[in-house]
Amino acid sequence: MVRVNVDIDRCVGAGQCVLTVSDVFDQDDDGLVTVLVQPSDPATLDAVREAAVVCPSMAITVVED
Ligand code: SF4
Repeated sequence: MVRVNVDIDRCVGAGQCVLTVSDVFDQDDDGLVTVLVQPSDPATLDAVREAAVVCPSMAITVVED
Protein backbone atom coordinates (compact mmCIF):
# COMPACT_ATOMS: atom_id res chain seq x y z
CA MET A 1 0.00 0.00 0.00
CA VAL A 2 1.32 3.41 -0.98
CA ARG A 3 0.05 6.73 0.27
CA VAL A 4 0.93 10.20 -0.95
CA ASN A 5 1.03 12.79 1.82
CA VAL A 6 1.48 16.53 1.53
CA ASP A 7 2.34 19.01 4.26
CA ILE A 8 0.60 22.26 3.39
CA ASP A 9 2.47 23.99 6.19
CA ARG A 10 5.65 23.39 4.18
CA CYS A 11 4.20 24.03 0.73
CA VAL A 12 5.35 27.31 -0.79
CA GLY A 13 3.09 27.09 -3.82
CA ALA A 14 5.87 26.59 -6.34
CA GLY A 15 3.68 24.32 -8.45
CA GLN A 16 6.44 21.92 -9.47
CA CYS A 17 4.33 18.98 -8.34
CA VAL A 18 1.45 20.01 -10.59
CA LEU A 19 3.80 20.42 -13.53
CA THR A 20 5.19 16.95 -12.85
CA VAL A 21 1.96 15.01 -12.17
CA SER A 22 -1.14 17.03 -12.92
CA ASP A 23 -3.31 13.91 -12.53
CA VAL A 24 -2.42 13.71 -8.84
CA PHE A 25 -1.60 17.23 -7.65
CA ASP A 26 -3.43 20.52 -7.91
CA GLN A 27 -3.19 23.89 -6.18
CA ASP A 28 -5.96 25.60 -4.27
CA ASP A 29 -6.87 29.27 -4.59
CA ASP A 30 -3.96 30.15 -2.33
CA GLY A 31 -1.55 28.11 -4.45
CA LEU A 32 -1.18 25.39 -1.86
CA VAL A 33 -0.95 21.79 -2.94
CA THR A 34 -3.90 19.43 -2.88
CA VAL A 35 -3.96 15.72 -3.66
CA LEU A 36 -6.63 14.87 -6.23
CA VAL A 37 -6.29 11.09 -6.12
CA GLN A 38 -4.17 8.45 -4.43
CA PRO A 39 -2.34 6.83 -7.34
CA SER A 40 -1.85 3.09 -7.59
CA ASP A 41 -0.32 2.43 -11.00
CA PRO A 42 3.48 2.17 -11.07
CA ALA A 43 4.07 4.83 -13.71
CA THR A 44 2.11 7.45 -11.80
CA LEU A 45 3.79 6.49 -8.55
CA ASP A 46 7.18 6.96 -10.19
CA ALA A 47 6.07 10.41 -11.32
CA VAL A 48 4.89 11.22 -7.79
CA ARG A 49 8.27 10.19 -6.39
CA GLU A 50 9.88 12.54 -8.92
CA ALA A 51 7.52 15.31 -7.79
CA ALA A 52 8.63 14.71 -4.21
CA VAL A 53 12.24 15.16 -5.32
CA VAL A 54 11.64 18.37 -7.25
CA CYS A 55 9.41 20.00 -4.62
CA PRO A 56 11.56 22.85 -3.26
CA SER A 57 10.10 22.63 0.24
CA MET A 58 10.05 18.84 0.59
CA ALA A 59 6.32 18.98 1.26
CA ILE A 60 5.55 15.68 -0.48
CA THR A 61 6.16 12.29 1.03
CA VAL A 62 5.37 8.86 -0.32
CA VAL A 63 4.71 6.32 2.41
CA GLU A 64 4.97 2.65 1.57
CA ASP A 65 4.02 -0.14 3.92
S1 SF4 B 1 6.05 21.53 -5.54
FE1 SF4 B 1 6.00 21.48 -3.30
S2 SF4 B 1 5.93 23.62 -2.72
FE2 SF4 B 1 5.34 23.53 -4.87
S3 SF4 B 1 3.09 23.40 -4.85
FE3 SF4 B 1 3.91 21.31 -4.90
S4 SF4 B 1 4.02 20.68 -2.75
FE4 SF4 B 1 3.84 22.90 -2.80
